[in-house]
Amino acid sequence: MSTTPEHPERSALSPATIVVSAGRPARAQGGHINPSVPMNSTYVSRGVVTPDELSYARGDNDAWHPFEEALAALEDGGTAGPADGDAAGGAQQPAEALVFSSGMAAVAAVFSLLPDGGTLVLPRHAYQAGMVLARQISERHGVTLRYVDIADTDAVVAALDGADLLLVESPTNPMLEVADLPAVLGAARAAGVRSVVDNTFATPLGQRPLEHGADVVLHSVTKYLAGHSDVVLGALVTRDADLAATLREHRTLHGAIAGPFEVWLALRGLRTLALRFERAQASAAELARRLAEHPEVAEVRHPSLPGDPGHARAKAQMNGFGAIIGVRPKARAGAADPVGRADAVVDAVRLWLPATSLGGVESMLERRRRWGTEAQTVPEDLLRLSVGIEDVEDLWSDLDQALRTP
Ligand code: PLP
Repeated sequence: MSTTPEHPERSALSPATIVVSAGRPARAQGGHINPSVPMNSTYVSRGVVTPDELSYARGDNDAWHPFEEALAALEDGGTAGPADGDAAGGAQQPAEALVFSSGMAAVAAVFSLLPDGGTLVLPRHAYQAGMVLARQISERHGVTLRYVDIADTDAVVAALDGADLLLVESPTNPMLEVADLPAVLGAARAAGVRSVVDNTFATPLGQRPLEHGADVVLHSVTKYLAGHSDVVLGALVTRDADLAATLREHRTLHGAIAGPFEVWLALRGLRTLALRFERAQASAAELARRLAEHPEVAEVRHPSLPGDPGHARAKAQMNGFGAIIGVRPKARAGAADPVGRADAVVDAVRLWLPATSLGGVESMLERRRRWGTEAQTVPEDLLRLSVGIEDVEDLWSDLDQALRTP
């Protein structure tokens, strides 16, 4: 339970302000403007403990509250309040956020909602470790996996019949497919299927799935929210108090908890999210435009491109187009195979970092199929570019020289 006082105008502030102002200590003369890093494994407690009281730091920890408060306010997007209606037409509760030790710990908590023998509808392209975990759960607990093209709304709706959980990524990792969020989340609600949206790529500044009817929003906080490639963390956000209690219990019993300093770092990173994401998105759109005209490029995926299959949908439901680009270098006549060609580009960059992960201030790229667990329908020569906040001309000249390297 959060002990951080909620901003009195939480529902009136813009996201760019919430990232700066939420999760601060209560104002007091001479008081701290930043939360401290409380280092406690336990708290003074006697007798029967109420849910609002701190007792043991695996169950609840005041080090988590400022970040959780800020993320909940962001995913609520200024629409929280008992007077508002949700996508199902019911009264809306303010969102609650739970921080986890990693994005994968958050994925595991969500998958724990699946009953043995249940059915999970999931994108054919999505973060690969989540896909591996889904396969393990399927084998061990008899869960049926229904893979869908998440951009194919009819296919998603058809797959919901008798399902227990819908996992959505949008845009997907690494193929950047864009789901029709209002349509698929509305259909899941109508069919009584719980839905979770991995909002890692878009961030709450890019889209707010709870407003479209998602039951749970998932984040790899490791990426844009923390933003500096120095911490691994995850989070879940929901407006359903019973679901929050179930997910919190999973976190407590499985011990998937975050350390106080990591959460402090994430909040510190969050303060600049609006600026970082605005810059990264603008640079990504510019780089995608130039890459689409580059003589050494065969294919570019970025929802900002007018010809991209996800363009119209992203324009309608997102604020911006994200900062991840998919690129396939053009094969050269008589030269190495496409994989070798893509690897050569990764080897040739000097400013871009050859590394996995995304969402940091530093631009990174990698060939996704170098991971054996990546979906086999992802092209072997697809490079995933995570655009950071460096000068866009420096990023361009490095990419250009790497693409032209013999
Ligand atoms: N979801 C997406 C879309 C991701 O890209 C990742 C990691 O790359 C995860 C979840 C898992 O997060 P973490 O690495 O913080 O466990």
